[in-house]
Amino acid sequence: MDLNNLDVAIIGAGYAGASTAKALSLRGANVTVYEQARQAGEVGAGIGLRPSSMAAFRDWGAFDAVASVSTASNGIRILTPQDQLVHAEEWPEKEQFGTTTHLIHRRDFIDALMSVLPEGMVKFGYRMESIVDHGDSATVTFENGESVTADLVIGADGISSRVRTALFSGKGPVFAHEHAYRAVFDMALVPGVFDEDDDFRVYFDASTNRHLYLLPLRHRGQVSFDITVPSDDPTWSPEVTREIIVSSLAGFDPRFEQITRSIDIDTINCRAAYDIDPVDRWHSDAVVLVGDAAHAMLHHQGQGANSAILDAKGLADALAAAPDVKAGLAAFQAARKPITDGYQHVSRNGWDPDALDDGFPGQHGDADQADAHHGDAHRGDAEPAALAG
Ligand SMILES: Cc1cc2nc3c(=O)[nH]c(=O)nc-3n(C[C@H](O)[C@H](O)[C@H](O)COP(=O)(O)OP(=O)(O)OC[C@H]3O[C@@H](n4cnc5c(N)ncnc54)[C@H](O)[C@@H]3O)c2cc1C
Repeated sequence: MDLNNLDVAIIGAGYAGASTAKALSLRGANVTVYEQARQAGEVGAGIGLRPSSMAAFRDWGAFDAVASVSTASNGIRILTPQDQLVHAEEWPEKEQFGTTTHLIHRRDFIDALMSVLPEGMVKFGYRMESIVDHGDSATVTFENGESVTADLVIGADGISSRVRTALFSGKGPVFAHEHAYRAVFDMALVPGVFDEDDDFRVYFDASTNRHLYLLPLRHRGQVSFDITVPSDDPTWSPEVTREIIVSSLAGFDPRFEQITRSIDIDTINCRAAYDIDPVDRWHSDAVVLVGDAAHAMLHHQGQGANSAILDAKGLADALAAAPDVKAGLAAFQAARKPITDGYQHVSRNGWDPDALDDGFPGQHGDADQADAHHGDAHRGDAEPAALAG
């Protein structure tokens, strides 16, 4: 269908909302994004943008905007807490998409996305309060009293989506009994770690199920760290203390322990880890969910933001190829949901100590999708004992 003159209202200007705005506006749709926050912003640390996401940015003319504020990375390394290599692997999809994974600070990423959207497309200070689906259009009312009716309303409003709750599923986020501590620090503080490469590093202590993720942000001279540890405290943003941070990496390589003793506590963002159960239906004939609103997943496989970006591409492609909005939305879900169901499942598995010969469980294309979806993980010959800390 011709998207020219299709009125689209997107709720939420995170990675999903901003990417979808770009993809649909390039196809001629009249897009307005409504964001509750007063200005664009992101907290936390770094994320990895996979080759398929970078290829989408290339299609949208946004590759340079993203690549210029990120670090190209060659692969992943899985290591013991004492920095012994267990497995190394190149990022999948590099050849297929002719680019590699780029590591980026979350703040720089949202700024880069905002910079490629037409001036005024994003309206800040608009918190959606309610939505009415009329079948061939929908009306959204905001807390500031304003409302808008559009041919297509897109719920890109994150893990606690009001669009999802109002129209598709009353189930809320599910606590994963983990806390994630994230921050960035100077690369000089971990001498010897990134001397030869910009590989993403996973340090995993199987005996205590503690994870340390290190992303080199060489363009910033920094390293992003994410410590994920078990916890039974479901508080969304739990308190961070020096004692808690130091104990989270006790027994790890002394360079990493030292970071926990010296880092400025106020720079650390802590989030309880939540995802959602797969949602059966993501759309009506005039409303659709994208990103975390449709399929929030745990961060262990780094696929949340990447899935949001590929939703944007998938939705624009499906609408353009369909005879009408109704058929386009159905085709979008049919194409994307099997893949994101698989990622939600694999991400909930975290890292399997018996399968550490595979740096990307469930991410090697369709065959793996089926496995992941049905819970068959690869079985390798990694020495689980080496990971017993
Ligand atoms: C610890 C951690 C590490 C991660 N690491 C990675 C990684 O390495 N790679 C990766 O791909 N993913 C990663 N992710 C996942 C990634 O952050 C999310 O999947 C991604 O942010 C989802 O984007 P989104 O736009 O769907 O949702 P959000 O980023 O949550 O954006 C939703 C937007 O909607 C707005 N909004 C919400 N409600 C309303 C309302 N009622 N009205 C108007 N606006 C509203 C919000 O203010 C927000 O701006 C990580 C997540 C966590 C928690």
